[in-house]
Amino acid sequence: MSLVVVGSVAYDGVETPHGKVDRILGGAATYIALSASYFVPSRIVGVVGDDFAQEDLDFLSSRDIDIQGIERVQGGKTFFWQGVYTPDMNDRTTLRTDLNVFADFNPRLPESYRSEHHLFLGNIQPELQKNVRAQMPHVALTGGDTMNYWIKDFRAQLLDTIREWDFLLINDAEARQLSGEQNLRRAAAAILEMGPHTLIVKRGEYGAILFRRDCHFMAPGYLLETVFDPTGAGDCFAGGFIGYLAGQGVGVSTADLDVAELRRAVIFGSVMGSFCCEQFGPDRFRTLRREQIDARYREFQSCTAF
Ligand code: AMP
Repeated sequence: MSLVVVGSVAYDGVETPHGKVDRILGGAATYIALSASYFVPSRIVGVVGDDFAQEDLDFLSSRDIDIQGIERVQGGKTFFWQGVYTPDMNDRTTLRTDLNVFADFNPRLPESYRSEHHLFLGNIQPELQKNVRAQMPHVALTGGDTMNYWIKDFRAQLLDTIREWDFLLINDAEARQLSGEQNLRRAAAAILEMGPHTLIVKRGEYGAILFRRDCHFMAPGYLLETVFDPTGAGDCFAGGFIGYLAGQGVGVSTADLDVAELRRAVIFGSVMGSFCCEQFGPDRFRTLRREQIDARYREFQSCTAF
């Protein structure tokens, strides 16, 4: 059983108060799959140009990530994103977004991916997200991400797409924008009327809140001593969350969903987001071991129990 992940595969240029890298492996699908791969084998769907390095594909393959679904466009260039962070690293400015081959991305799942049961739809055009889900007739748990651009300019398509999802994972500003409610609790209630039975609101370094109709669960962010680069932290949260659930075989129907498992998944999400920030780009995942993840998970338990 594997997790299918769809989204951007990119090169990023990143500047934080700790340094600057001109070109490093990035992309939402890259981070989600790397993070999830500690819990479940992952199968990635994306598009790259012929400038995409073999060593980056090899890195993904070495982590139990199936790269058969990465389409390589001859003569095309890989998606490039560049950003600079504020001194407290809670905010960033996008300096450049070159969509390149990503502009014509029309994900088609390899035959071997279609029978999988767990799907995470990274931030791409809502209609494409909907098409991907339709290619997986046996899907038991579907969730995804979106962004301000789709909420503002593609609202009808987005609503039609998330109607079919089990969970939506967005940040607090996006939850307010999507619902039109400033109060987070009211925003969550409104979003839970749109289709998903579970909503996870990411709050950057402050953690995340999981909302369901009848309950909510608040998880803090892990207090790191040094944050080198927050790029991809939200995606790694997503990878930890769905990866844990997929690894446990959680899904099927709302009635079967064990809320305790959802809570554990939120903590694994926070843990994976925190590791991501410890080095530039996805570099932390070159050395991170599962025992370290489990140790930080236990640390979370001890510093939140009362
Ligand atoms: P995060 O920090 O979790 O928001 O994820 C950052 C990653 O998202 C980077 O590696 C970028 O390559 C990727 N990214 C940035 N902008 C977009 C976009 N418009 N669509 C898809 N992926 C993007």
